[in-house]
Amino acid sequence: MHYSEFHAFRQKLQKTQKQLSELLGTSLKAIQSFEQGWRKVPGHIERQLLFLLTMKKKDVKKIRSCWEIQNCPPQTRQLCPAWEFKAGHLCWFINGTICQGKPQNSWNHKMKICRKSDVLSNHVNVTGSGR
Ligand code: SF4
Repeated sequence: MHYSEFHAFRQKLQKTQKQLSELLGTSLKAIQSFEQGWRKVPGHIERQLLFLLTMKKKDVKKIRSCWEIQNCPPQTRQLCPAWEFKAGHLCWFINGTICQGKPQNSWNHKMKICRKSDVLSNHVNVTGSGR
């Protein structure tokens, strides 16, 4: 996640740096470092931030499932944890999803795919690369 995106998302959540540090379980200094680009935003922080943005949506229950948006065939979705855990609106949050035919071996690889999909970008205004 690029530092400018991190900053923009904090603004969107309408949180001070201190409030966001509490929500993300990290220090105020870390938040300042992420926003200044002095420190890379770790995967677990990015993940939590995207989760909060998603849950802040008024109509979170109306977010369409990934299998509808992506036209995912039944034989694929039945093998996917997003389907198993009924988390079609949070598929990007769950490791082990199989949009590319197999699970990705890291959060960064997974996010490269998820950032390009309509599922995440439908409700969080992410950039394609996250860089
Ligand atoms: S996350 Fe799983 S269920 Fe959703 S579109 Fe991708 S493969 Fe299908």
